[in-house]
Amino acid sequence: MSTRHTSLYWLQCGGCGGDTMSLLGIESPDLAEMLDLLDVELLWHPSLSNGSPGEHRALVERLLSGEQQLDVLCVEGAIIRGPGGTGMYDTMFGRPKKDLVAGLARRAGVVVAVGTCAAFGGISGDGEVEATGAQFTKREEGGFLGKAFRARSGLSVINLPGCPVQGEVVAGTLAAAINGAPLPLNRYHMPLEWYGMLVHQGCTRNEYHEYRVEEHDFGEKGCMFFFLGCYGPLAYGPCNKILWNRRSSKTRVGVPCFGCTRPDFPMPEPFFKTRNIEGVPLVVPEGVDRAHYLAYKGMAAAAAPQRLRNRENRV
Ligand code: SF4
Repeated sequence: MSTRHTSLYWLQCGGCGGDTMSLLGIESPDLAEMLDLLDVELLWHPSLSNGSPGEHRALVERLLSGEQQLDVLCVEGAIIRGPGGTGMYDTMFGRPKKDLVAGLARRAGVVVAVGTCAAFGGISGDGEVEATGAQFTKREEGGFLGKAFRARSGLSVINLPGCPVQGEVVAGTLAAAINGAPLPLNRYHMPLEWYGMLVHQGCTRNEYHEYRVEEHDFGEKGCMFFFLGCYGPLAYGPCNKILWNRRSSKTRVGVPCFGCTRPDFPMPEPFFKTRNIEGVPLVVPEGVDRAHYLAYKGMAAAAAPQRLRNRENRV
């Protein structure tokens, strides 16, 4: 794919467009530089292209027929199947977008699901719009395109969840896919390069978490896992590795992680509140045995240094 232009078509389905906003914010390189560096021919992006509706329609027809080669298809937003499986709640050129997704995915060299809605259904994924992710519905593999789907390159849909996903993750994935670099995925088809770590890893509140110095109210420096609804130890993603706006993250500034990269996002529990029994979270960190965790946290709290109890850490 690197010896000629790589063609890329971006289709927005059922979502807010926040992933596009995130991608527009990348720097070093910025989006225009990145497309240039990767020799990408951007066939269409709803926020960046200025062709007429007629030109856009003709392009889509050429893509669907195979007359125009499609190397990368980016889908943003969930695939809407309602009402009653018709998909007519979300249309383009008078056709359900779900049919366009099916037709374009068949032609594409690589299919990238950008954001949690496109990957798993996300916020759009419940209710009468009958939304689903491209190859998953929440945790269940299959989704709209089916479990057996493979793009022309032989790859399954590459899922980049996040609400929104960080633009750097999209840029890095496109670079790897276009250059043919290895891109190992986890069982939810998320690249390990960015989703092989927990949001918790890199949070500046780690030492508070370690000694169970927990907050009940916002605005303090301690950990937000036990009472304030933080999903940092339960969600995979690079929020504390690739900082937002190259500066910070939600958890660093005192907002709990909502677990937006998880296939089951949004979870039924209210945000800003941890479900717990007697002050102990119902769900303990990924891969940890509950009984041992409780014993460890009890001892850790007893051993907490005074400087942490006094919230003297500067971060
Ligand atoms: S605030 Fe959240 S991410 Fe930060 S240390 Fe506590 S549990 Fe981990």
